[in-house]
Amino acid sequence: MAEKDDKNMKALKEVWRRAENALCADCGKPDPDWASHTLGVFICLSCSGIHRNIPNISKVKSLRMDHWDEAQVQFLEQHGNAVAKAMYEAHIPIYYYQPTHADCQVLREQWIRAKYERKEFTKPGRQLPYSNGLKEGILWKRGRDNGQFLPRKFLLSEQDGCLKYFAKLDAKEPKINIKIDTINATFQPVKIKNPNGLQLSYLKDNKTRNIFLYHEDGKIKSRLMQKFLKEGYMEKTGPRQREAFKKRWFTLDHRRLMYFKDPLDAFAKGEVFVGSREHGYSVKQGLPAGAQGGFSWQYGLTIVTPDREYLFTCETARDQQDWIAAFSRVIEQPMTPQEYAIEAYFKLSS
Ligand SMILES: [Zn+2]
Repeated sequence: MAEKDDKNMKALKEVWRRAENALCADCGKPDPDWASHTLGVFICLSCSGIHRNIPNISKVKSLRMDHWDEAQVQFLEQHGNAVAKAMYEAHIPIYYYQPTHADCQVLREQWIRAKYERKEFTKPGRQLPYSNGLKEGILWKRGRDNGQFLPRKFLLSEQDGCLKYFAKLDAKEPKINIKIDTINATFQPVKIKNPNGLQLSYLKDNKTRNIFLYHEDGKIKSRLMQKFLKEGYMEKTGPRQREAFKKRWFTLDHRRLMYFKDPLDAFAKGEVFVGSREHGYSVKQGLPAGAQGGFSWQYGLTIVTPDREYLFTCETARDQQDWIAAFSRVIEQPMTPQEYAIEAYFKLSS
């Protein structure tokens, strides 16, 4: 019996040592020392606590302290983090925000439940989980003019696919009414200087508008959580490519590159629709030969659209490569019918 146990522990250590199992399957924390023997994933202590909340789906054990039987070890051998990822994360929308170990428990629990309990990402197409339809709450919203945060009533209606907010707590008519599909919400603790800071970007009259919020206890609807593919400073020049380059804050979401004078501006100074390769869009390293105009940053890149070229410069080579990689991800994705419509809007309004 002891011999069999030894063999079993040896097999467990081997599968645990595999490179694919070196990071927590859910939050990416290095050196996970827990595992789920029903899902076949290696996870950190903190995520194992969340798995305990879904006992009908996941059963966890410590890899160091618990006894593992042969069948459980075999299950881990046949699964592991790579197999689980291929299954449970097969169709994550590229702009979906995946929390890391630095994120709060609430956000990680939403992610883990979406992944294993609701299996939102196992099939193509964004699954819209209909919970109980209506969510209402108070969020602190940053005033556009004075930058002060004030409490506002927010209402999320999944049936109509709308998010509304009211300027006064007893107001009947919403101040804004936004289609959820057009919202890009990102988690922005640093920018907003609050651990539950959130940025919502949405289209209004075909222009992008930002609102900055936080919630006191961090209960953020995971439905809305997405991430920017990339954001940061670049320099840009104007359409004639002769104007001096100006430093701007850029955000890239699924198809839209927006730029701002300041990261906390409510309105974008401009935006560029980024389509797909087969529709005439591409990204190139460097600036076209003969590009003029003063730029202080040396690492250029060019976005080619069917209508014109956009020239940017980055401060570091690393930044340049990251931006090129982010644009490439967008461009390599075929456009959906809805995105063709958005592209047409952009052309009308520019
Ligand atoms: Zn974890």
